[in-house]
Amino acid sequence: MSHEQALLEVTALTKRYGEQTVVDGLSLTLPAGRCLTLLGPNGAGKTTTLRCLLGFTAFDSGEIRLAGLPVPERAREARASVGVVPQADNLDPDFTCTENLLVYARYFGLSRREARARVPELLSFAGLAHKADTLVPDLSGGMKRRLTLARALIHRPRLLVLDEPTTGLDPQARHLIWERLRQLLREGIAILLTTHFMEEAERLADDIVIMDRGRKIAEGTPHELIAREIEPNVVELYAGRDEAAFAALVTRLRPLFSRMERSGETVFGYCHDPAPVLAALEGNPQRYLLRPANLEDVFLKLTGREQREE
Ligand code: ADP
Repeated sequence: MSHEQALLEVTALTKRYGEQTVVDGLSLTLPAGRCLTLLGPNGAGKTTTLRCLLGFTAFDSGEIRLAGLPVPERAREARASVGVVPQADNLDPDFTCTENLLVYARYFGLSRREARARVPELLSFAGLAHKADTLVPDLSGGMKRRLTLARALIHRPRLLVLDEPTTGLDPQARHLIWERLRQLLREGIAILLTTHFMEEAERLADDIVIMDRGRKIAEGTPHELIAREIEPNVVELYAGRDEAAFAALVTRLRPLFSRMERSGETVFGYCHDPAPVLAALEGNPQRYLLRPANLEDVFLKLTGREQREE
């Protein structure tokens, strides 16, 4: 993929707030038509990265080219090719769905006629055709998100940037958003999104950059990350009421795993060949689950299992 075709090219981006380096030498490339996902725990620097590359926040060093144009110098022009879905819906509560889209269309310089033609298309794409005249406060959380997504598409951007697009939504609403984003990818739009949901990254991303404390700590396709960073099989063992028996079982199994981790009531055993573990578990009353390793295992191995407060 040549540089001209990359919708986003970030080289050694660094951003400090006072003493704290929030983004630390980050490089990213997003070719046309792909989905790049920044995955990281809270405070990893994902939102700050997005703000820098859209030209909303000044950065300390590094280079950014958005839609082929240097940021911040030509950020405004570059943003004409970009649709943005911010973390919090900032729709106008005094307006209906249609009116919200029309206002935005005007902001992006669409003619009245173009805008009038585009709005029903977008409402239908967002599954909101029946809500055209509904005021924003009367929409569900999922509907507001979809309206924000429709709004971001009004000027037919080539790149869509989404900051935690499904945070706060219930699983059904989340699936609807994913389905729409996959449709956009099929149509050839490029997507850059941030998330801390593994499932979201696993379902949508062509490429994943795992960030922690402002740094890129791993990158690749979901498949590559799992194959490279972690053992292929995981046995989850659940502690029952009999802690002593569980502890004895864990001690007995330990040599059969290449790595073991405990998180609350669950012990995770990682291995290449699960057969000896299954044999050792036979006839044992403790509950367990054998499953293939997934992105969450990679993420937790790289960023740690402790909860982050921030
Ligand atoms: P993420 O999106 O991955 O949760 P953020 O980019 O929001 O992470 O934040 C990264 C770090 O930068 C956090 O420690 C946060 O407190 C800090 N930070 C973000 N914005 C500001 C700001 N305007 N002033 C000072 N510190 C900030």
